[in-house]
Amino acid sequence: MKKFLKIFLSVIIIIMLIIFCIISLNGIGKEIPNEKIIHHTEPEIKTNHKISLNVIETAFGRTLEGFVRAGGSFFKEKLISHNAVVIKHPKGNIMIDGGLGMREGQDFKQIPFYLKPFFYYKFKQPAKDVLDKYNIKINKIILTHMHWDHVGSIRDFESMEVITRKEEFEFAKTEKAEPPAYIKSQYLDSENFTLIEFSNIPYEIFSKSFDIYNDGSIVLVPLEGHSPGSIGIFVNISQKERYFFIGDITWMLEGIIYSSHKYYISSLLVDFNKENLGKEINRIHQFAKLHPEIRIIPSHDFVAYWGIERLNLFDQ
Ligand SMILES: [Zn+2]
Repeated sequence: MKKFLKIFLSVIIIIMLIIFCIISLNGIGKEIPNEKIIHHTEPEIKTNHKISLNVIETAFGRTLEGFVRAGGSFFKEKLISHNAVVIKHPKGNIMIDGGLGMREGQDFKQIPFYLKPFFYYKFKQPAKDVLDKYNIKINKIILTHMHWDHVGSIRDFESMEVITRKEEFEFAKTEKAEPPAYIKSQYLDSENFTLIEFSNIPYEIFSKSFDIYNDGSIVLVPLEGHSPGSIGIFVNISQKERYFFIGDITWMLEGIIYSSHKYYISSLLVDFNKENLGKEINRIHQFAKLHPEIRIIPSHDFVAYWGIERLNLFDQ
């Protein structure tokens, strides 16, 4: 009986220690110091073209806010999405990322088993099948970055132009690029990458930019910290309807609202340069306060996409 009691108490103490660690790590990075925004060039939004947005949810998951944002609650559920965003544009339709592709099962096998719980998802549909169903032809794919949950579906679109940054592409080929962030088999054989070079034209708070169709409707900007060459994408439907897709700078909109990092362990696993990332989060946080009319959308925040028309393979 005594032995049983000892084991029981030890288990309780270990569980309490684990809970204590999880909660204390949660406080790290919950407030990032403010730094003044230097550049701010407000663009003129032209609305000559009729463009529209759709979202395809390729996979989804549920987690607790505490595991996706520093300072988040462990009693609040968050819905996670892996999405492809489709921009219909008269000069050619564009897809942002692509969510998880047809070979998602193979890809996920390459994540070490002890890290799988951090990245668990339920697969729903590949973007390629949904686009085929609606007869939407894509002209090019723009990657916010090359992490496995964003780049996997490029293999489903043979010979499709894929846009990324040189810094991202070069790093993705090095030995440092490994699971759980990068999975090389997803992109090493592809010859369809176009490496963009930003022009020195300031755009909003960014000192460099790249206007895809030179019409102000889709404008790329460099984002620092999460990966060596992340890209942020402004989509301007009209003067009043504007979106800013920020990739994985934060996983949840609350990260921008409260200016906070991801949960400490998650950040260790996926963020490239936490100091630069903190600065980027804070800049976007200040920008969001100046421009509440622009919808800021982190890739994985289900709620942030609310109101954008969804395309599905089967009726929901
Ligand atoms: Zn991601």
